[in-house]
Amino acid sequence: MLQKIRILPIPAFTDNYIWLIQRGHHAAVVDPGDAEPVMDYLAHHQLQLCAILNTHHHADHTGGNLALLQQYPVPVYGPANESIPGLTHPLHENDIVSLPELALEFTVIDVPGHTLGHIAYYGTDILLCGDTLFACGCGRLFEGTPGQMLSSLNKLAQLPTQTAVYCAHEYTLANIAFALTLEPNNPALQQRAKDTQIKRAQKQPSLPSTIGLELATNPFLRCNTQVLRSAAEHHLNQVLPDEIAVFSAIRTLKNQF
Ligand code: ZN
Ligand code: FE
Repeated sequence: MLQKIRILPIPAFTDNYIWLIQRGHHAAVVDPGDAEPVMDYLAHHQLQLCAILNTHHHADHTGGNLALLQQYPVPVYGPANESIPGLTHPLHENDIVSLPELALEFTVIDVPGHTLGHIAYYGTDILLCGDTLFACGCGRLFEGTPGQMLSSLNKLAQLPTQTAVYCAHEYTLANIAFALTLEPNNPALQQRAKDTQIKRAQKQPSLPSTIGLELATNPFLRCNTQVLRSAAEHHLNQVLPDEIAVFSAIRTLKNQF
């Protein structure tokens, strides 16, 4: 019988999570920005690395690839359109990533915006989304346009509501504080603030989230609602023509928050 899948965060740097997906003695890691905490974890738990998955090229997500490869010559999956150290399996949208050691398959989703080649991995009610969708927030637009990021987020918003969201940073409390400035009367958001404060006070990760919770509370998935449009228009003191303009306004407000 198959052992259960476990997904654990390995903290790195100040607020990164390197997700480790484990079944039995096998494990894959997602966005290993630093090799050392991953190697320590693998050694301590006697796990065999079977794959590295990267979502985008930033060093805090790929910086550990080469050092891990020296010890574990495993396949490296990542976006075809970005430069990823040690990449062996360049991926395009709708490609399937098969990890037989974990008995898992993921489908690749293109999610440009934070970077132009950014991808997400989706399968078995698991979403690995790097710096695209955050808990109650979204990534900064370093390379893409607001329109690109909004359509990327809208793709993720269409996944089943029970999908567990594993993003790459612990930004949730700050994101909730910002969201509350736009939607102070959203009861789901108020509840999320309480729940997350308790988790963080106990030094627990706020993640994973779910698509359902994000739909109810994440301002960047709610740009199509009247309440978010009104909040953005109020802050900017101007009428916004469409959903992209609302998204863009909220992203700018968040950058200044
Ligand atoms: Zn990044
Ligand atoms: Fe990052």
